[in-house]
This record gives sequence, C-alpha cells and structure tokens, in this order.
Amino acid sequence: MSDGADREILEQLRELRAADPPTHGGRVLSYVYDSGRSDLDVLAREAAALFQPVNGLDPTTFTSVAVLERDLVRFVRGALHGDEDVVGSVTSGGTESCLLAVKSARDRSGAARAGLVMPTTAHPAFRKAAAYLGLDLLEVPVEPGGAVDAARFLAVVDEHREDLALAVVSAPSYPTGTLDPIEAIAAGCAERGVDLHVDACVGGLVLPWWPDAPPPWDFRLPGVTSISADLHKYGYTPKGASVVLYRGRERHLAQYFATSSWPGYPVVNPTVLGSRSATALAAAWALTRALGHDGYAELVRRTAEATTRLRSVVERIEGLSVLGTPTGPLLALTSSGEGGVDPFLLVDAVRARGFLLQAQPAFTQPDGSLLPRSAHATLTPVSLDIVDELGGAIAAAADEVRGVAPPQPDLALVAQVAETGLPDRLAGVMATLESLPRDQSPTLLARLLAAVIDPDASAVG
Ligand SMILES: *Cc1c(COP(=O)(O)O)cnc(C)c1O
Repeated sequence: MSDGADREILEQLRELRAADPPTHGGRVLSYVYDSGRSDLDVLAREAAALFQPVNGLDPTTFTSVAVLERDLVRFVRGALHGDEDVVGSVTSGGTESCLLAVKSARDRSGAARAGLVMPTTAHPAFRKAAAYLGLDLLEVPVEPGGAVDAARFLAVVDEHREDLALAVVSAPSYPTGTLDPIEAIAAGCAERGVDLHVDACVGGLVLPWWPDAPPPWDFRLPGVTSISADLHKYGYTPKGASVVLYRGRERHLAQYFATSSWPGYPVVNPTVLGSRSATALAAAWALTRALGHDGYAELVRRTAEATTRLRSVVERIEGLSVLGTPTGPLLALTSSGEGGVDPFLLVDAVRARGFLLQAQPAFTQPDGSLLPRSAHATLTPVSLDIVDELGGAIAAAADEVRGVAPPQPDLALVAQVAETGLPDRLAGVMATLESLPRDQSPTLLARLLAAVIDPDASAVG
C-alpha cells in the first residue's frame, strides 16, 4: 500500500476521533482517567507498540509476558498489603477480574447451586458473573449513606451459609463512591469461613494513598480472600488491564481452565481469553515502573485535592448535595430540599457547558427503599487544573434548572433514539429508562445499543 493510502486511512480515523468527547483535560467525568501527564501517555504508547505483535496466550513461549505479569502482580500486591501468600493474574479489565474471582469461588465451593451475596451497589460485573456462571445472587440493600450495614449483610450470610460461594463488598462502590464496612464484614466472614472478595476495581490504585488513611479494607484484613483492582482506571494505563489477587495459591489455581482433551497443544488459560494482546500489559508495566509508589501518591494527592474542592463547591449550591458518604474520588450529586435541582436536568445543563457527568437513575432496592437519582462524577489528577471551571459550570447549570419540574417518562422518546440517535438533552430518555420495569429494560437497552452498531441501517427500529 502506498504512503498516500495509509495517510488517508489514518486521516479517516482522526476524523472519527474528532467526533468523540475529549479523552484528555478532565471534561469527561467517567470512562476515562487522565493523569494529566503527557509523558506517561507517550511512554504507554511506546511500550504498547513494542508488544503489539506478541501473543499473551503463552508465557512459556513469550517469556517477556511472564516477567511483566509477575512484576505487575508484585506491584499491586504490595500496594494492597498482600504478603507472599497473595498471588494472581493480570486480566483484560475489571469485569474479567470479578468474573474470575467468582469462578474460583464457585469451583471451590462444592455446592450444587452456589450463592453470591453482595450489596445492591456492587458492580454489575457480579450480576453478569452470576448469570454466566450459574450462581444465585443474594442482594443486600444499602443504607441511605450508600454503604451496606455489616450486621444486615452478615445475617444474609448466615441464612445462606450452607451454599454460599462468595461474599462481595466494594472499595468503594461506583454509584456513590462509598466504602462498605469491610473491616466488620471481613471479620464476620472469617469467623464463618466464608470467602470475601473486595471489589477495588476503581479504588485499588487510589485508596492506598488517599489522605487521612481510610480504615483497612485490603489484605491487611485476614478475612479478605480476593481483591480486584483495575490498572486501566487509576493506574492510567490504556484500556485492557486489571489485576485479580487471591490469598493462597489454591484460590488462584481455581480460576484457571486447562485441558488436554483435544488433538492440539495442551491448553492452559489463566483468564477468560485465549489469544490475548500484551499491549496493555506492557503499557501497565511501564507506567507502574515510571510512577512507582511515590508517583501514584502524587497523582492521588492532586485527585484528592480536586475532589475536596469540588465537594465544597457542590455543598454550597442550593438544592444540590453529595449523595452518601464517599471516600475517594467518586461523587454522586443529588437533589436536596424542596424545589431542588433534578440530577438529569443538571447533567444536560452541565453538558451544554462542556462537561460530561453521568446520569444515574433512581433505584428501588429489594426492601422497597429508594436510592435517588444522581449525577456521577469521577475525578482524576487533571481535574485539579479545571476544578474552578467545573464547579462554575455545575453552579450555573444548577441555577438554570433549579425548581424546574423533573422530566417525565415518554416511551416515544426512546423509540426515537433507535432512529435518529441520542438527542442533545437526555433527561427525558433517562426518566423513561428509569420508569421501565426491570424485567423489560435489559431487552430495550440491548436493542438500543445493537441498533447503534448495526451495519445494516435498515434493520434498525
Ligand atoms: C469499573 C468497575 C468495574 C468493572 O470494570 P471494567 O474495567 O469496566 O470491566 C468493577 N467494579 C467497579 C467498582 C468498577 O468501578
């Protein structure tokens, strides 16, 4: 192919990217994690390029992969206070880490039909794991502060003790950024001989350096038997890297799939994938080396300062408040008081000012209690550079929508999305999705997304 043709292809890619929201600069407050350091982006890119042709499937053939994986496990284990009894794997992301932790626990439980107990705020990756792996999900409602009550959680553990494979808590949970009472739950689980997974996908590389040291939540607690921590979040590595760690090698081994029952090469897959890219692994290795504990500590300092400053702005805005009691860089903004600020309207008004918050629908828990609508913000080190502008945008948006009646559900709006794409103002669509019975919304959501990527436009609708 000529250079000219290559240039044109790359130009097309650049045009497509130009239509995306900016991945740098702190304007998108979910999905992307910006260290604010372009040197780290360059390092990650070059590391990934070096490993582009490698197949991570077989670390006995590509021995480089084994070295990188070992070093990464050692680094994250150190940050999470694991000793030499703690081992694990690098995976493609948080969902895979969580899925594997559940698989390990299921295969070791021996129960005919294993149960998984978790707070309602646990990440949907566990719901997915239960669905894929055939476990019964036992959900425990959280308290208004966003954390599950330890006694209430342990009561459910007791009730299902015989066939429980795993208990799960979050450090912190995504919807409100709240830490569950992990110390008490870990002690209770240890007493009962129940394995406990701490989902630190989002918090794993933040909480170790968070100011005012949060209460212990990691391998310092003997009752914690596994932890998931994403490198592609607050590790700042390109997407496709997470770590799952286990206390004890037997738990790690139960995650593996191996077989010689076919005429080909002996198969040993530590994770879900077969052939796998080593690019994210190499980038993660490079970034953790470049940053080390001190580098992460400094990035966390910036993130924490941005979070404190944004919180203090939000707390001064009439009709708006921070939901629950977050520890770490995730905030959920919700309406407070009569004639408050509707979070869905707020998200739209903030978007018009150049920042993307994430709308979180109200959620009715199994006990009937309601977690209100909110607007989610994930802060990163770069947020500190724009925190005044962001705070100003939220305050101005709140002034614009304060006292405005919340949007009403309207099925026609959702049908329209399948035909014309997402409208500029999403509040009505979100209110409709929020209002749908929970057994109906999955089908609708799947259809909406499938329509977006359907190569045959005529099949849409
Ligand atoms: C992001 C996240 C996950 C899932 O991770 P992915 O990398 O998106 O697959 C799991 N748990 C929590 C708390 C998360 O924030």
